[in-house]
Amino acid sequence: METIGVLMTFPMNSYLEQELDKRFNLFRMWTIPQKTDFFNKHSNSIRAVVGYAGAGADRELIDALPALEIVSSFSVGLDKVDLGYCKEKGIRVTNTPDVLTEDVADLAIGLMLTTLRGISECDRYVRSGLWKKGDFKLTTKFSGKKVGIIGLGRIGTAIAKRAEAFNCPISYYSRSEKPESNYKYFPSVVELASHCDILVVACPLTEQTRHIVNREVLDALGPKGFLINIGRGPHVDEPELVAALVEGRIAGAGLDVFENEPHVPEELFGLDNVVLLPHVGSGTVETRNAMADLVIGNLEAHFSKKPLLTPVV
Ligand code: NAP
Repeated sequence: METIGVLMTFPMNSYLEQELDKRFNLFRMWTIPQKTDFFNKHSNSIRAVVGYAGAGADRELIDALPALEIVSSFSVGLDKVDLGYCKEKGIRVTNTPDVLTEDVADLAIGLMLTTLRGISECDRYVRSGLWKKGDFKLTTKFSGKKVGIIGLGRIGTAIAKRAEAFNCPISYYSRSEKPESNYKYFPSVVELASHCDILVVACPLTEQTRHIVNREVLDALGPKGFLINIGRGPHVDEPELVAALVEGRIAGAGLDVFENEPHVPEELFGLDNVVLLPHVGSGTVETRNAMADLVIGNLEAHFSKKPLLTPVV
């Protein structure tokens, strides 16, 4: 397979890069200074694109690669891949489901605890010597809080299971009710938000879910409610979230993702009721290696004409 051209869109993982390099003719998009010259020279040999949550395969890239057969994404979310166009052109698409579910769910629980109990602020309090001047303020109890989940899929269900161990009643919103679950279903996000203490975003980013958390939802969550976002930044109307936090219309937020990553609204930096993470939901060595193995497994399956491991298109 050494002659098959594979284009990696970003230096997303060094183990993945190394393993791709061993097996394929790997092109690194971020090292190409002159894209036009590069595409003129190599576009006919590139048969696969490896993308991730930050840079996938849009229509422009697909059009620049006439020999493209497969997009193998180092992510479960495929909002950066033009799925409709891939389908139309017969280009296969794969992602990395399941292997990252536990890490993302762990992180969601971590964000809930950190945000409600002020763990990051406590850490800053000790490091800056403030403890010597007095005890830390009281925070908000997590156990038993009502958790509402938008998107009861693999990750949403794993979050629910974990939150149940903290005696949290679980409810959810998704396009269809899940009769197999014992959790309470609400047919709209506003209803879910008005019946929970902690609203968690865990659905895929699509045209229907862009800004699924808007001003109305934030107001339904209310001044005692917390927002946790481990989905994608554009799920939340960010200026509305900033306003709700600054004006005290919600109690706090734990955010792993942002609308315009890696840019984060500066108004959030001064708020102690907000916990900000740099999109690290699946960011452990173990999980990123498993994701890399899945990306490679899909490419190897495709080029040896075997069934794909995790096909989406
Ligand atoms: P999944 O198993 O496909 O679950 C997604 C759930 O969302 C499904 O239950 C689906 O249920 C629901 N859903 C789909 N469209 C919806 C809509 N329009 N409105 C409401 N709910 C909707 O996916 P997953 O593996 O749990 O991953 C979920 C998302 O997490 C990914 O797409 C990705 O964006 C994000 N993620 C983030 C990180 C991170 O690092 N922060 C890491 C991994 C994944 P219905 O079909 O019934 O609507």
